Amino acid sequence: MKTKPRIGFLGLGHMGLPMARNLHTAGYDIKAFDVLPAALAAAEAQGIATVATASEAASDVQIVLTMFPSGKHVLDAYREHLLATATPGTLFLECSTIDVAQAREAAELALAAGHRSADAPVSGGVVGAEAGTLTFMVGAEPEDMNELSEVLEVMGRRIVHCGGHGAGQAAKVCNNMLLGISMIGASEAFVLGERLGLTHQALFDVISSASGQCWSVTTNCPVPGPVPSSPANHEYQPGFAAALMSKDLGLASNAVELTQTDANLGVRAAELYRKFSESGGASADFSAIINAIRDGSL
Ligand code: NAD
Repeated sequence: MKTKPRIGFLGLGHMGLPMARNLHTAGYDIKAFDVLPAALAAAEAQGIATVATASEAASDVQIVLTMFPSGKHVLDAYREHLLATATPGTLFLECSTIDVAQAREAAELALAAGHRSADAPVSGGVVGAEAGTLTFMVGAEPEDMNELSEVLEVMGRRIVHCGGHGAGQAAKVCNNMLLGISMIGASEAFVLGERLGLTHQALFDVISSASGQCWSVTTNCPVPGPVPSSPANHEYQPGFAAALMSKDLGLASNAVELTQTDANLGVRAAELYRKFSESGGASADFSAIINAIRDGSL
């Protein structure tokens, strides 16, 4: 029987811990590390083997998986601890959501140090991480995909090979830019509908079966009532927090600038979500932006 690769898993936060747990449960030998002692303790409490330093996590493993808050964390860890300690040929699997340019830089650094590289950001949130139903958007060399798929399928349900290095992050920012725009659009439509005398249910019944249909209306509807499971029915508890949407739209704006793309709505969505997050909405679900649109505070 083929042996499973040993994995250095770094970043045991909201997403990383359940992902590491799913690998551990599936029989993978993991060396887990986080800079926060509390995160290490939480992993140990679930039976996951931890190590005391980042370098230890990267040594004598076949895959180094990172799940960090930002690209700076990734590049710093690569440069300061991980690349030099890993055995040549190690597969660096970067699953955080980071800037496309930083993802490409991380891949270049890994390749220059004699390793292999893949960016595989996720969608599906903490619920998907817990359930092992994440979607992975992968930027990698085709010859690494079989090895990657075996591991990613333990943590996710859908694995999409988007292209070469950086392509996973590129797909992620494009998707989330559209999501941010569509949630603002859905919110504006519902507020306009209120002022024109429409009930939420009547407008939902039309949009959900007409050409305005989108996930922001049919699954994450920003008004309470029509979709009982949407955060609007639960005081806008996330779901997907506005702060994370703001972060992802910031990454999309960087990519828009890098590529000189005429993406006016994406850039405007980034401004609106930043303002909403900074004025108290950060920890609410991103659909709560409807309340700021309704009260005219944006
Ligand atoms: P988090 O802040 O909960 O976890 C990140 C962890 O990384 C923290 O525990 C932190 O201590 C650790 N860390 C930072 N630097 C480190 C280092 N050098 N070595 C070891 N550990 C280090 O964040 P999260 O919610 O788990 O998100 C992780 C990534 O996934 C982010 O890039 C985020 O944008 C992305 N993401 C999050 C969600 C979500 O719903 N939370 C959904 C999709 C994608």
